[in-house]
Amino acid sequence: MKKVSIVNVYIEHPIMQLNNTFSYFHQSKKRIERGIRVRVDFNGQKIVGFVDSAFEVDDLETYQTKLGYNIKPIEEIIDEEPIINDELYNLGLWMSRQTISPVISCFQAMLPSTLKPVSSAKKAVMENWVVIKNDEVKEIYGFEETELLLKDFKKKVNDYRYRKLKDSGCIEIVKREKKAEIEQFKVYEAPYNLTEEQEKAIDIINNSTNNTILLHGLTGSGKTEIYLQLAKQACFKKKQVLILVPEISLTSQMVNRFKSRFNGVAIYHSGLSAQEKYQQYTLVKEGKVKIVVGTRSAIFMPFKDIGLIVLDEEHDGSYKQDSTPKYNTRDIAIKRSETHNCKLILGSATPTLESYARAIKDVYQLVTLDKRINQDLPRSYLIDMSKEVRKGNYIISGPLLKAIAERLDKKQQVILLLNRRGYTPIVKCSNCAYVVMCPHCDVALSYHKDDDRLVCHVCGHSQSNDVTCPKCKSKMWRNYGVGTQRLTEEIQKKFPEARLVRMDADSTRKKDAHSKILSSFEKQKYDILIGTQMISKGLDFPNVTLVGIFNADGPLHRTDYRSVETTFDLIVQASGRSGRSSNPGEVYVQSYDINHYGIRLAVRQDYITFFNNEMSYRHAAKYPPYTFMAAILFAGKDDETVKDKAFDGSDYFRKDQTVRVLGPSRLLKIKGEYRYRIIIKSKDKQQLIEKLWSWYEIQSINKRQVSVQIDVDPYILD
Ligand code: ADP
Ligand code: ZN
Ligand code: ZN
Repeated sequence: MKKVSIVNVYIEHPIMQLNNTFSYFHQSKKRIERGIRVRVDFNGQKIVGFVDSAFEVDDLETYQTKLGYNIKPIEEIIDEEPIINDELYNLGLWMSRQTISPVISCFQAMLPSTLKPVSSAKKAVMENWVVIKNDEVKEIYGFEETELLLKDFKKKVNDYRYRKLKDSGCIEIVKREKKAEIEQFKVYEAPYNLTEEQEKAIDIINNSTNNTILLHGLTGSGKTEIYLQLAKQACFKKKQVLILVPEISLTSQMVNRFKSRFNGVAIYHSGLSAQEKYQQYTLVKEGKVKIVVGTRSAIFMPFKDIGLIVLDEEHDGSYKQDSTPKYNTRDIAIKRSETHNCKLILGSATPTLESYARAIKDVYQLVTLDKRINQDLPRSYLIDMSKEVRKGNYIISGPLLKAIAERLDKKQQVILLLNRRGYTPIVKCSNCAYVVMCPHCDVALSYHKDDDRLVCHVCGHSQSNDVTCPKCKSKMWRNYGVGTQRLTEEIQKKFPEARLVRMDADSTRKKDAHSKILSSFEKQKYDILIGTQMISKGLDFPNVTLVGIFNADGPLHRTDYRSVETTFDLIVQASGRSGRSSNPGEVYVQSYDINHYGIRLAVRQDYITFFNNEMSYRHAAKYPPYTFMAAILFAGKDDETVKDKAFDGSDYFRKDQTVRVLGPSRLLKIKGEYRYRIIIKSKDKQQLIEKLWSWYEIQSINKRQVSVQIDVDPYILD
């Protein structure tokens, strides 16, 4: 009789039972622990899975007889030690439960792609090292170290000698995983003293018994400086620091601030190659990196001892992952700060309503900075576009035009925000009013003049522009609306001498395009930067004294419950780009609706009044933060099948008196799929999650017909 281990493994499995493990047996002496990756056979396919647990049995035959079926052996043990430590393993299980998603998808979300448990897991890049076995060799060639990279060794030893040394056994060549190089860790002092307000804020943070802090402060009020000070304190305590930002390419200034204050800061974001990510990941795992500045996925870095987490611009939508597992980085950050017993700073000039509501109820500690360090807030003007249109100013209002001219005279810079890319959003037949739609989505195609094509902004479909009208065969098309391409053209017409640069999803496709545009603008190679919401985030250009916001009320008309909040955020954030240095700034906000509280209060930068107003609407409509929500999205190629499933779902939840059900409502068709959504509201989040699980577990939906996606605490619902 031979003892064997029975190993339970999580693998990616296409059927609905989400969190089953599958059993395999294992006979070799190699230890097998939770969090190790293994290769197994599943239905004839070799796939990579995660070990969840293992136990010994005396005899495999007897065990299999008891089970009633035979189990297969583990084919390969990939890792020597767990790739996911205990903390992260438990975090993955918790996240799976909270987001109603497969455990394996949570592990996948945590790991850089080279480590992901998929069938084609790539191996790490290796490099050759020389191990010197003979001290004389060190002396002769003047090497101080006993082990060094082959390429460094060869700088001093020619090929002939190298081969001799190798053959005689004086040196040995070994392959090792390539590691990123790290600089010596070092701290530089701030070039100024903290303001009294900053000192006070740091005191409150350090003395609070609450680990979660909401740092509410205008743009330019000195929040980043507070992060830097707290990071320094944590490093002195020999702890690690994690700074999360919405998008690295748009927040290079945060990276630069940290790099100018600390040596040895690691940057982690989606733009890194798989290998670069893997290297950063291992450095953190080995505790060699003290400070990481990163985007969403950096929250899963395998830190040993976190002393501080910062979530800068906590209101930003990019903190919510929009594919499974649909986690919110803030929730993960709270969980990790509990585990590590460290402070978590949520920083923003425009916190989400839910965070601010929690802060005033003392669920989070509220810390407020209400003065700008260098300048007062810019002067803001609200411009009534319906009046301007009557004067013939369809795109650019008179006052904004004048203000731009002034800046160009003074050699100061301008930022113009229009949150719509392309040339025009609608192309219409001027004979019969037919609108060109995407063949796969219920969405009008936008005209892009750069490449003279019609493009779907939802699925990316593009087609040539020379279409005859399918209805009346006319070739007369008219363009409606204004996108960033058209705006750039119009501004250039008005100011032929001005140097313009456009920043939107089209102009930033190439790697590093963002940082190239931003650094040229910073060096004042351009006078005017025109762009979508990309340019509203975190930019700090001292020479910018004018910000113009076009179509400010446009986003209000979305159906999303958060649309007023996101409109408010966008205006306040964009305004904050103006007048950040010694010259005072101005902001012009063009809007058709000038009486909407969201617009008016954003122009006045009055967050508190906005918060109170918006909260009363949320209360009346029973929206978050007054309730918890989950959205269930059904999608598939056959309209009737999808609709049936959605109605079955809503019927199920309607039987329950403790939740409220909205829908099913039919959403726009996207990528050829019909979509229906139901929304479930509940007072109690954990109860809601349990109910969703009970429903989900009894589903026998054929994924190929209808896909079901649950989104707990959806960020956007449009
Ligand atoms: P926020 O993160 O709130 O936008 P920052 O920390 O970036 O604010 O501060 C805004 C500007 O003021 C920056 O240019 C920063 O260098 C400067 N600053 C911050 N704190 C101080 C201080 N105590 N004394 C002088 N300048 C400061
Ligand atoms: Zn027509
Ligand atoms: Zn489309």
